[in-house]
Amino acid sequence: MIRSSERISSIPFSSIREIFEEANKIEKSGIEITHMEIGRPDFDTPQHIKDAAIAALQQGHVHYTSNSGTIEFREAIAEKLKRDNGITVNPADEIVVTVGCKEAIFNLIFAFVNPGDEVIIPDPSWLEYQYIVKLAGGVPVAVPILEENNFILNPYDVEKNITNRTKLLLINSPHNPTGAVLPKETVSELAKLAIKHDLLVVSDEIYEKIIYDQEKHISIATMPGMFERTVTVNGFAKAYAMDGWRLGYAAGPAELVKPILKVHQYNTSSATSFAQFGGAEAYRGPQSFVEEMVESFDERRRFLVQSLSQMPGVTCVEPKGAFYVFPSFKETGIPSNELAGILLREALIACVPGSAFGEYGEGYIRMAYSTSLEKIEEAMTRMYPVMQNLMQRSTLSK
Ligand code: PMP
Repeated sequence: MIRSSERISSIPFSSIREIFEEANKIEKSGIEITHMEIGRPDFDTPQHIKDAAIAALQQGHVHYTSNSGTIEFREAIAEKLKRDNGITVNPADEIVVTVGCKEAIFNLIFAFVNPGDEVIIPDPSWLEYQYIVKLAGGVPVAVPILEENNFILNPYDVEKNITNRTKLLLINSPHNPTGAVLPKETVSELAKLAIKHDLLVVSDEIYEKIIYDQEKHISIATMPGMFERTVTVNGFAKAYAMDGWRLGYAAGPAELVKPILKVHQYNTSSATSFAQFGGAEAYRGPQSFVEEMVESFDERRRFLVQSLSQMPGVTCVEPKGAFYVFPSFKETGIPSNELAGILLREALIACVPGSAFGEYGEGYIRMAYSTSLEKIEEAMTRMYPVMQNLMQRSTLSK
């Protein structure tokens, strides 16, 4: 019998996909489900971005590009990093364009993590981080982020988990799945820790533009002494509704970007040629689309937080960024994967159990509000009696 490698058999399939498939099965029987499980905007890519990619195709940009990405695109990224983030990089050798932000993270982990090296990852977090680290032979070290702290990573907890094997600290703000945004003081404290313990920092900033209530996104690379030890990763999936384009990048000092480029050469060679022209247009063209999308997300966010907070058995921290709420269902005493099943079958809402994001996600559910306000309103109307019922049952059994 032919078996997959031990490396790959120790890693599960993504549980988000499992829920998506179960929801699809229900839908095939003619019942409509509200999809709140998949993390992507429900908007179309803006037309001017599509036009730029179409024009590139028609002009014959159909071949491999430089491994690092076209120089025009890298220049557009460097301009954006300077303008929006205050990060100065040389487009010649301090940026590598990748197939999605995910490829940037994958390449980075493979470029820097030796077997046994420890990587500090907030828990809960986007599930891919820990599995990529495991695939590379590294050891993910979970640092809990807690509801009572509004899911803000606590530098003190990070420091407690640093050992002489710690190589890398991974941060993500705004954060998936909690929507937490790291305040400047926290970013500054984390930077001091990274310098003190000589850590490489990966800052996943893919949700930077989806931010509410005058919160400010801070790039850790701009903190004193941090540029030389930080790789900033980002992509176009969220801010420009370009998830299917598969476009992202890693940026940082040339010494850190070079090994990432090496992995990228053996992985995908280059991102899709004409998609890169769309990416350059996204950064250089009008930004009104992003503002309108964020306004719409904000309206849904407010409605959802309010509805969930009024539901029996639920508490909900107000997220400050991204497009997820991460309510607690701990009061129900039901494990989150069971609860996600109940919400799917009884309230016809597909969402992700918090346990899929790490041990400390247990008791929570991630709901993406990348679906219309009207659908969210209907979903909340269906959910209320389900929660009422669950709480009645749990009181009766006590
Ligand atoms: N980082 C985070 C935190 C994400 O949530 C996602 C997508 N869900 C990605 C990276 C991957 O982005 P991309 O689609 O550009 O690979």
